[in-house]
Amino acid sequence: MEQKQFQAESKKLMDMMIHSIYTHKEIFLRELISNASDAIDKLYFKSLTDDSVGMNKSDFKITLAVDKDARTLTITDNGIGMTKAEMEEHLGTIANSGSLQFKKENNLAEDNQIIGQFGVGFYSAFMVSKRVTVKSLAFGEKQAYVWQSEGVEGYTMDTCEKDTVGTEITLELLDDVAADAEGNGGENYSEFLDQYRIQSLVKRYSDYIRFPICMDMTKSRKKEDSDEYEEYVENVTLNSMVPLWHKNKNEISEEEYNSFYKDKCGDYTDPLCHMHVRNEGTITYDALLYIPSHTPFNYYSKDYEKGLQLYANGVLIMDRCEDLLPDYFSFVKGLVDSEDLSLNISREMLQHDAQLRQIARSIERTIKNELQRMMKNDREKYEKFYQAFGLQLKYGIYQDYGMHKDLLQDLLLFPSSKDGKLVSLKEYVDRMPEGQDKIYYAAGESIARIESLPQTEQVKDKGYEILYFTENVDEFAIRMMQGYQEKQFQSVLDSNLDLESEEEKKELEEKQESSKDMLEAVKKALEGKVGNVKLSGRLKSHPVCLSSEGELSMEMAKTLNAMPG
Ligand code: ADP
Ligand code: MG
Repeated sequence: MEQKQFQAESKKLMDMMIHSIYTHKEIFLRELISNASDAIDKLYFKSLTDDSVGMNKSDFKITLAVDKDARTLTITDNGIGMTKAEMEEHLGTIANSGSLQFKKENNLAEDNQIIGQFGVGFYSAFMVSKRVTVKSLAFGEKQAYVWQSEGVEGYTMDTCEKDTVGTEITLELLDDVAADAEGNGGENYSEFLDQYRIQSLVKRYSDYIRFPICMDMTKSRKKEDSDEYEEYVENVTLNSMVPLWHKNKNEISEEEYNSFYKDKCGDYTDPLCHMHVRNEGTITYDALLYIPSHTPFNYYSKDYEKGLQLYANGVLIMDRCEDLLPDYFSFVKGLVDSEDLSLNISREMLQHDAQLRQIARSIERTIKNELQRMMKNDREKYEKFYQAFGLQLKYGIYQDYGMHKDLLQDLLLFPSSKDGKLVSLKEYVDRMPEGQDKIYYAAGESIARIESLPQTEQVKDKGYEILYFTENVDEFAIRMMQGYQEKQFQSVLDSNLDLESEEEKKELEEKQESSKDMLEAVKKALEGKVGNVKLSGRLKSHPVCLSSEGELSMEMAKTLNAMPG
């Protein structure tokens, strides 16, 4: 028998997780059932192309069993199983390298939400168990292995007897804790030995699992010709097996949508919204899409992987199909199920698949429409979305030389000089006063910095609103747009704002002429630091200002200079 320690990192995370993130410890069951279902999906998919599997769809199932005397709950599946190495890798380490890296850079103890984003599903078993035993025989292997752990300290591995392919997980439940005199602090784990409790948990969290979840239930009935009752055992299928996305929208509760999301997408917070669509045009598909309510910890890094699950007629054929989502909507999670896709389609073929491209285009429209609707009908929610993912939309405009600007420009929001609220370009243009023909903006590192810029005064005095660009990508993105509704964007930091009347201009020219010597002297004193020194008619409460001429603004030049390489 081999005895191993969990990695130090895993230990710490596991400890925090067990004690803090799950407010509902009951969801361990959903996690384990979902893993069992994933494992069956994998073997079922294999069985479609590999005769040696020797299984039909109807052979697959998940079995739950309780043993009150031993205080155990066992979850068994006949899925693909795990090899010894897979058990070590998947059950012996808690987080992937990306999240570990993240953990080092951030103080995780302070932020439980983030822990929730790791793949810690299996470990939730320790919230209710004093000991967890996993026996597994992987498809294609002869030797089965048993993994056993009592939590943080470590685990043991050994060979074991198991004739059938699949995994059996036995939980030895923790002892109940009595409440104190005031009734606080009690914990009940025996509830997970109650068949009706288990039944209702499966209904609640795992009803849509597409393979039967079966349990022997003890029931009682009246004996024939007698008033006496007798007990009998019936094997009951606990779930309806209808995939959520095939149900009617009005039959699905918000809680079901949310719980499905949390299960499938590995998030522990409810999503911001869901989109459930059935498309029956030239191509038929169902899609269930979600927008998370917060930015995934690695979202703006190269570690983030976008994509949707892809099903062909109810069979999972790809866990993360990237081609279904454009980069600017890469935050969307969920799945697509289409009857029109062929099952044995390969990864390479998918990339060139016309039907897939069609689905992707249609999904893109769905997302765009949903966001626009949200912006219109629930501004608060939209701003929450924008806070999390707005940056990505701006990158989307900037990428591909503004090719997607028409799709994305109406989803943008900016702070402005008006009232501290975020404003869309359309709102800006709609409330432009008579005589204003440009969209004014000022770029800087913060709103406070921008507001203190001398150049904003003259524009505001004119009664014109100024958009505040506080993110590096802002100015690059709007340059790609080359205007909005035939209005040009105009930086208030440009030297030629052309806001003066003819008279004012003339006066300034004369002054410029008469102050020539002085200006030359200043220019000389600042040589190498500025390109030119001019009189300005734009200053009110500030003595001087810097402004730019030509293609690059000062802020853009700063960004480019700061870029590596
Ligand atoms: P996730 O499901 O998000 O990958 P989990 O912690 O729930 O994270 O599971 C970790 C891994 O352990 C799974 O990805 C899978 O490879 C493996 N695993 C867990 N349970 C099973 C099972 N019943 N059969 C086969 N593999 C399993
Ligand atoms: Mg899981």
